[in-house]
Amino acid sequence: MNMVDFSINEHDQKVLDEVDRMKAVIDEKYTRYYDIHEEEIAPDVLPEAKDWVHLPKMQMERMGQPGVTKPATYSMMSSIENCLGTGVLGLNQRMGGLGNAALMAQGTKEQQEKWGGQLLAMAITEPSCGSDSKAIETTAHLDGDEWVLNGEKIFVTDGIRAKGMVVWATLDKSKGRGAIKSFIVMKGTPGFDLAKKEHKLGIRCSDTAAFVLKDCRIPRSDLLGGKEAIAEKQGGDFKGLMATFNMTRPGVGAGGTGMIKHAAKIVIAELKKEGVEVDWEQGPAKRSALQDKLIDLEAQIESSALTVYRASWLADTGKPNNLESSIAKAKGGDVSRYGGQLAVELLGTVGITEDHLAEKDWRDARITDIYEGTGEINHLIIARALLSYGSADLM
Ligand SMILES: Cc1cc2nc3c(=O)[nH]c(=O)nc-3n(C[C@H](O)[C@H](O)[C@H](O)COP(=O)(O)OP(=O)(O)OC[C@H]3O[C@@H](n4cnc5c(N)ncnc54)[C@H](O)[C@@H]3O)c2cc1C
Repeated sequence: MNMVDFSINEHDQKVLDEVDRMKAVIDEKYTRYYDIHEEEIAPDVLPEAKDWVHLPKMQMERMGQPGVTKPATYSMMSSIENCLGTGVLGLNQRMGGLGNAALMAQGTKEQQEKWGGQLLAMAITEPSCGSDSKAIETTAHLDGDEWVLNGEKIFVTDGIRAKGMVVWATLDKSKGRGAIKSFIVMKGTPGFDLAKKEHKLGIRCSDTAAFVLKDCRIPRSDLLGGKEAIAEKQGGDFKGLMATFNMTRPGVGAGGTGMIKHAAKIVIAELKKEGVEVDWEQGPAKRSALQDKLIDLEAQIESSALTVYRASWLADTGKPNNLESSIAKAKGGDVSRYGGQLAVELLGTVGITEDHLAEKDWRDARITDIYEGTGEINHLIIARALLSYGSADLM
C-alpha cells in the first residue's frame, strides 16, 4: 500500500536551505524595492541568481529517483518552508506561468516542444465574467487556415512579462462550455494589444495586465490540444482546462501559506526581543493572550501546509485530487486572510509600518483567496465533491 509520506531527505533539505539563503538576499536587496516601484518589471533573472538558476533544473532531473522527494510535494514544501509566494520575486521568472501548466496538461507534444521553454500567462477573465468562466464572450472562428480571435481579457498575471498566453475563447456561445477552447497567442501578433497594467494592493512584483484581441489571427495549429470539434456532451476541453487547476491550486495555497509563515517568523523574532515566547510545556491557564495568539497562528499555518501536502502527495502518486486541491486552496486563502491580519496585529503599531515585511506579506497574501477560484468558489467545489453534486445542482 502507498503510505502518505511527506518526509524530505538530506539532499533535498540542503536545497531548501540554499533557497532560504537566496530568499534572504532577495528580501534584503529587492523585495521592498519592487513593492514600491510597481511600475518597474524586475529582470527575468536577478544578477545574484546567475549561479543559482541551475537549482530547479537540477532538482527536476533528480525527481523520480529512489529516495528523492516527489516533485509536486517538493515544490509545495519549498513554497511553504522557504516562504515563497507570488509576492516574492522569483529567481528565475522565465518559467512557470499558469499558461505553462495548461500547455503541459492540454497541449500536443509538438505544442509543448514549440512553446515549453517560454513563460506563458493564462487569459480567462473578462470584464463580464470571472468566477463563472464558462460565460466568456471572447470568440474564435476559423477563416481558412487561421483562427480569428475577438474579445477582451483582464487581470492576466504575468501579462507583461510573459512571451505569450493561453487565451480562452468560445467557438459558439450558444453551445455552452463544450465550445470553449484555448489558443496560444504570442506577443507581437497583430490585433493582440496591451490595454492596461494594473496597480495593486499586493503582489506588486507580479505584473497584472489587460489585453484586447481585435481580429487577431493565429495559425490553425495554435489551438491548444488541436481538437477543433465542439463537444456534444457538456465538458470537452473545458473540463480538461479546469483540471489544470487541480495541479495549480495547491500551489496557490502553498504560496499564501508561505507568505504568512514569513510574517509569522517576523512576529516570533520581534516578540522574542520583548521576552514573549511560547513555552510549549506550559498549560493554557498560565499562558498570556499573546502566547495563545502565537500558537493559533502557528497552528493555522501548519494545518494549511498539511492540506497542501495532501493534495500534492495525491498528484505525485497519480491519484485524483480535485477535492483536496480545492481544500488546500480554500484553507490557504483563509489562513492568508486571518493569519496575515493576526501577524500584523501581534506586531502592534510597527506591524503596519514598512520597518518589517509583515505588512507586505499581509497585503500580498490577500490574492490567495481571489485568483484560481475565489474562496467561495472553492468551497462550492468542495461541497459538490462531498455531496456528489454536479455544477448544475449546486451553483
Ligand atoms: C492580481 C490578480 C491576478 C489575476 N490573474 C488572473 C490570470 O492570470 N488569469 C485570469 O484569467 N484571471 C486572473 N485573475 C482574475 C481572477 O481569477 C478573478 O478575479 C476571480 O476569478 C473572480 O472573478 P471576478 O473578479 O469577476 O469576481 P466575481 O466572479 O464577479 O465574484 C465576485 C464575488 O462574488 C463571489 N461569487 C461569485 N460567484 C459565486 C457563487 N456561485 N457562489 C458564491 N459566491 C460567488 C465571489 O467569490 C466574489 O467574492 C486575477 C485577479 C487578480 C486580482
